[in-house]
Amino acid sequence: MSGPENQIEKLERILEISRELTSTLALGPLLSKIVDTAAQLTVSEDASILLRDARTGELRFRTATGEKSEQLADIPVPVEGSIAGEVMKSGEPMIVTDAQQDPRHFGGVAQQIGSETRSLLAVPMLIRDRCIGVLEVLNKKGDLPFGQDDVDALKTLAAQAAVAIENTRLIGALRTAYKRLGELDKLKSDFISIASHELRTPLSLILLYAAVLQEQMGGSGAGEIDAVLRAATRLKHIIETMLNLRYLETGQMDLIPHRFDLRTEVQSACEDYQALAETGGVILKATLPDEEMPIYADQEKIRVVVDNLISNAVKFTPAGGQVRVALRSRGDDLEFSVADTGVGIPQEELERIFERFYQVEDHMTRRQGGMGLGLSIVRGLVDLHGGRVWAESVPDQGSRFVVLLPPYAAEKLAESRSPLSVD
Ligand code: ADP
Repeated sequence: MSGPENQIEKLERILEISRELTSTLALGPLLSKIVDTAAQLTVSEDASILLRDARTGELRFRTATGEKSEQLADIPVPVEGSIAGEVMKSGEPMIVTDAQQDPRHFGGVAQQIGSETRSLLAVPMLIRDRCIGVLEVLNKKGDLPFGQDDVDALKTLAAQAAVAIENTRLIGALRTAYKRLGELDKLKSDFISIASHELRTPLSLILLYAAVLQEQMGGSGAGEIDAVLRAATRLKHIIETMLNLRYLETGQMDLIPHRFDLRTEVQSACEDYQALAETGGVILKATLPDEEMPIYADQEKIRVVVDNLISNAVKFTPAGGQVRVALRSRGDDLEFSVADTGVGIPQEELERIFERFYQVEDHMTRRQGGMGLGLSIVRGLVDLHGGRVWAESVPDQGSRFVVLLPPYAAEKLAESRSPLSVD
């Protein structure tokens, strides 16, 4: 029998191994460590681990001490009519002093690997009430019987081992899912890129010939050609949005900055959206400064920002409402804002709407069209210009989107790299 000093030593060893177990992330080495420690702690010839297959409920040998490990790998052990199966079902440890005489001893394994089991101690590996497997030690050295000390030591080790095994499994599953997600993301990006490039050429032809036809036909059929032109222009916009997203995501978005008057650009965008606003019964007004608002930036991309915010405001404002566009200096920055009296955005969604594909209303039930990409592109472009964009809102009363742009940030970027590309 072992004395209290021996017990303390064992506990210290378990504590030490528990630290090691929690820092081992690969399942194979982790299982080997567990069986080696189990055999050492109980002074046994061999030790092995059987894990429960979560899908089939079956027990399978996963590892054992020494050379037997490979021979044992993946041998299934029936849950009914085996000692490990009993331990798994009852959740209680079991000592067998004479395995050969015990009817529950599963002789199949010994036969396969040519070793004989005389005595055996098996403990469940429990996580709360769930048994994930069984830890077994075989043949205590000196032909001694397994005692309560062995049971206690092995139970403690099994509990630590169960948590460590479950952690590595979860980490493994997480890694696989993450890898898969990366692959899917790449697939999606490649698809967007190929599809949009392939669509661009035929679409340009449609737009070109529709415009030529419109000119040639004069009055007759003008309505129909107009519809073709509008639909094709809308498609072009969708393709450009997808391409912008792809370039922003892959860091391939190049800025081609130059100096221009932001006031003129905002004015021109408001004029473009005037007709759409009127059709929807919305009043669109701009409050612009008298003086120029010079900015050194990529004019086309800033226009994408301005267009998206005005178009959203018009889209999410019911008839009878108002959209107010404003531009002013604010400290060293230029502040462009679009306020509407529309449906508004719940407080908890104010940041999420800038995420890709995020839409407050469910895509299938929403009344408004759109892909949920506009704001993520707006944020990406504003970031590239060293600015900030955010949303404020009172649900059911309206929203206000604010863009702060440092007028010369792009110039500084351009000085450090020429031509300016951001990656
Ligand atoms: P889309 O407009 O194509 O759905 P966006 O990225 O431009 O995509 O906008 C994301 C979501 O943010 C919209 O679907 C809408 O739910 C919300 N949103 C954007 N602008 C407004 C606004 N002015 N008023 C209310 N909700 C808005």
